[in-house]
Amino acid sequence: MTNRTAFITGASRGIGRACALALAQGGVRVAVAARNIEQLETLAGEIRSQGYEAFPVSLDLANPESIKEAIAKTAKDFGPIAILVNNAGITKDGLALRMKKEDWDTVIATNLTGAFLAIQQVLHGMMRERWGRIINISSVVGEMGNPGQANYVASKAGLIGLTKSIAQEMGSRNITVNAVAPGFVETDMTQGLTEELKDKMLANIPLKRIGRPEDVAAAVRFLASDEAGYITGHVLDVNGGIYM
Ligand code: NAP
Repeated sequence: MTNRTAFITGASRGIGRACALALAQGGVRVAVAARNIEQLETLAGEIRSQGYEAFPVSLDLANPESIKEAIAKTAKDFGPIAILVNNAGITKDGLALRMKKEDWDTVIATNLTGAFLAIQQVLHGMMRERWGRIINISSVVGEMGNPGQANYVASKAGLIGLTKSIAQEMGSRNITVNAVAPGFVETDMTQGLTEELKDKMLANIPLKRIGRPEDVAAAVRFLASDEAGYITGHVLDVNGGIYM
């Protein structure tokens, strides 16, 4: 995995940050993208201090122009993108009966449409190189459903369909497209959950622990590698066994 460039969305914290560190430590040059440029610059500094290459780039997935600009800037100033990790995601939870259309639209736009538009921007370059890896971060709830998260679950299930469709379209170009479906992972996203809810979830996890961002990053790093070259259209569960 040497000297290739990865573009990781939502790299400012949580799972995306762990993916950036894991890929960099595996010899990949990492473009780290999100809205908060200060956090990205700090992360880039940390990666460089370990002797690897990083490129912080500002990106708002809810804005299609921003996606185009961030990917074009990365390709021009840092290098052609060989690996895309569509990791950024948001929640705006609520029961479907009362969910505002705005909350539905924002989550779908960021989590699903944003990932699709990012894929469109990197495909030409990958086709030219006849090598590419696209990894979409879905979720166990995209496979199971979850009350109170209709918008988020639809976006995460949508990512699985998107993964399989692009995998079929791009197979002949040696571009693999896979999804990783994490279970419950300790990050800012899950920080707000009550201790009671966490204990309830823990009781249902065969491996008896909550996931770490590094658990997900290890799966992403594998799917991005040459060794994973015969795997495409797959959904890799990283969930402690909560859903099999
Ligand atoms: P997190 O800690 O909340 O981080 C989310 C990341 O997405 C941040 O870097 C954030 O950066 C970025 N982001 C949010 N909105 C964005 C936008 N409009 N444009 C660009 N970047 C944006 O979340 P996480 O827990 O690491 O989750 C990462 C992914 O894993 C998400 O897709 C999530 O759905 C999925 N996942 C998480 C869990 C879990 O238990 N944590 C489980 C299953 C799946 P800025 O705010 O700086 O933009």
